[in-house]
Amino acid sequence: MSLPYGLITPSPTLESAMPLSQHDVAFHTSSKIYIAWISVGVSLLAFTLKYAAWTVTGSVALYSDALETVINIVAAFGGLIALYIASKPADDNHTYGHFKAEYLSSVMESAMVVVTAVSIAREAWISWQHPIMPDSSLLGITLNGTAGVLNFAWARILLNKGARWRSPALTAAGRHVMSDVWTSLTLVCTFSLVPLTGFLWIDPLLASLIACNILRVGFVMIRHSIGGLMDEAPDTETRATIRTLIQQNGKGAIEAHDLRVRAVGAILFIDFHLVVPAQLSVENAHTICDHIEHALKAALGPALIGIHVEPEREAKNKNAIIISPCLQD
Ligand SMILES: [Zn+2]
Ligand SMILES: [Zn+2]
Repeated sequence: MSLPYGLITPSPTLESAMPLSQHDVAFHTSSKIYIAWISVGVSLLAFTLKYAAWTVTGSVALYSDALETVINIVAAFGGLIALYIASKPADDNHTYGHFKAEYLSSVMESAMVVVTAVSIAREAWISWQHPIMPDSSLLGITLNGTAGVLNFAWARILLNKGARWRSPALTAAGRHVMSDVWTSLTLVCTFSLVPLTGFLWIDPLLASLIACNILRVGFVMIRHSIGGLMDEAPDTETRATIRTLIQQNGKGAIEAHDLRVRAVGAILFIDFHLVVPAQLSVENAHTICDHIEHALKAALGPALIGIHVEPEREAKNKNAIIISPCLQD
């Protein structure tokens, strides 16, 4: 039996064998928190710009947009707290670590994206019922548009970092900020196109299309964060790689079965049974386990691996990973 060490209680051998991935995780953790702090700053700056846009125009639409930005500040702080919690090492209460806190933040962000979609749909309905010529002001549009450009640039960075570091919290934050870019785009279009063309229906049409798109994004986000909370297995390719690696690196063992894998952000949780000849020494069985663990971590990055060693009478034929069947007889 090999204990799930590695990230939780790094053994000296593993630390020296896997300096890169251990270092990467620590590095990403502090970088993620750093990014989350900038997110707070960006949300405050975007709010200031949108608030200024409302003050100079007195426009109701710009006022409600500025109000919605307050939610973003709350979300940015929420994301920061979640990343702080997620970065904490495992303790007596949470022996698997705190990684899942990232999914809580992504559930929160998804809910906010859905709220944004509903509020845009509401604006669209009001504007359809009571079409009015928007009170346009170049300064107001420019200020609100600048906030939109700022959000767009920041959302791109968040999505990029989120994908590269496999961080559900940063990805969700990026999608949320991007949904606000769409809101800004609606406002800018309404404020420039409607007075220009005189077509009052442009506003509700555009707003309802954008509401539908944001709602779609919101549901995709909810689907992803629930998948993470429900211990979803990684993609087929990763699962196949794990099976191949166990097979190629388990020399001396007979087979492996009952493989279970789940991905929590950047970390894989892997456990399985390893069938070895009954007479094999504990020393040798442990060496095989270490060999497989090193290979998995080298190929897949940070992972928490638990291996249950069994004698050959426990061998299963169904769905087993056959390593060296000849050892069985
Ligand atoms: Zn060990
Ligand atoms: Zn078994």
